Amino acid sequence: MKISINKNSELIIAADIGGTNIRVCLVNSQGKILDRKKISCNPSLGIEKVGKNISEMVYSIIGHQEVKGMGYSSAGPINQISGEYINPPNLTGWHKKSLVPILKKHLAIDPKVGHDATLAALAETKFGNYKGSKNLIYLTVSTGVGAGIISNGNMIQGQNWFAGEVGHIIINPNGYKCSIGCYGCLEGNISGTAIASIAREKIAKGEKSNLLIKHKESEINSKLILDYAHKGDKFSGNIINHVIDNLGKGLASILAILNPEVIILGGSVAEGLSQFYWKDILDRTSHYAIPFYKKNPPIKMTALGDDASILGASIIV
Ligand SMILES: [Zn+2]
Repeated sequence: MKISINKNSELIIAADIGGTNIRVCLVNSQGKILDRKKISCNPSLGIEKVGKNISEMVYSIIGHQEVKGMGYSSAGPINQISGEYINPPNLTGWHKKSLVPILKKHLAIDPKVGHDATLAALAETKFGNYKGSKNLIYLTVSTGVGAGIISNGNMIQGQNWFAGEVGHIIINPNGYKCSIGCYGCLEGNISGTAIASIAREKIAKGEKSNLLIKHKESEINSKLILDYAHKGDKFSGNIINHVIDNLGKGLASILAILNPEVIILGGSVAEGLSQFYWKDILDRTSHYAIPFYKKNPPIKMTALGDDASILGASIIV
């Protein structure tokens, strides 16, 4: 089968490839999502098989309609021209491989590709509350931590496509380490993965928590810690305080380096924190920020939700 391309079509196929889920959407040029499909992603099946699954989702979502083209956002690091992965921590086994030729083979389409956080930042400048911004950063705090950077209206990508890996700035050399082994980086101390592993480490050292009355240690995740912190569990509250303080350090550092108009926060951990601790996030950022930002640090939550990177993928088409 072959997809009908019409450069004048209003319809765009936009996909998002993550280590956990794959989403394929039909989007119009105004950024409205008209249809969507989601499946779980199992990178260990191999990139060929996953590419075939994505192609089947694309066919089922567009039927016989003509489309302008296809774009996809992906967890990285990824070469945003060839789509080749560079040791992607959440897409194990995909190093030096690309979905582009696989999608080309199955769909007869030449997809555009971008890094998920970078495309989320791009979408914020086109469809979000800071439409038209030329200096905007999108910081995702989820399983991992990463940023998309728009500076002077350009997407910042770096010499080796690693720009925006702010998850690995060191905020406390004596702190916890992340999955790639840097000691005391932001990701190692505030990501969803970090929150769960900090909790387990504390329990292993003999600390007590109310959450162990109803839950097994194997059930601990960042959402549970957030819930218990909000319910007044001291153990969980201490972890969340640690997370917010370190997030404040990270945000203050990013403000100082790039002088953005705004840092937009997204991702499941940021969403969870923002519900009960928004003022604390701003307070800690203000505490660590340079004087220019102390009074009113420009930090906002995304209004595009999970769809930011998908919408960004539609823009590059
Ligand atoms: Zn790190």
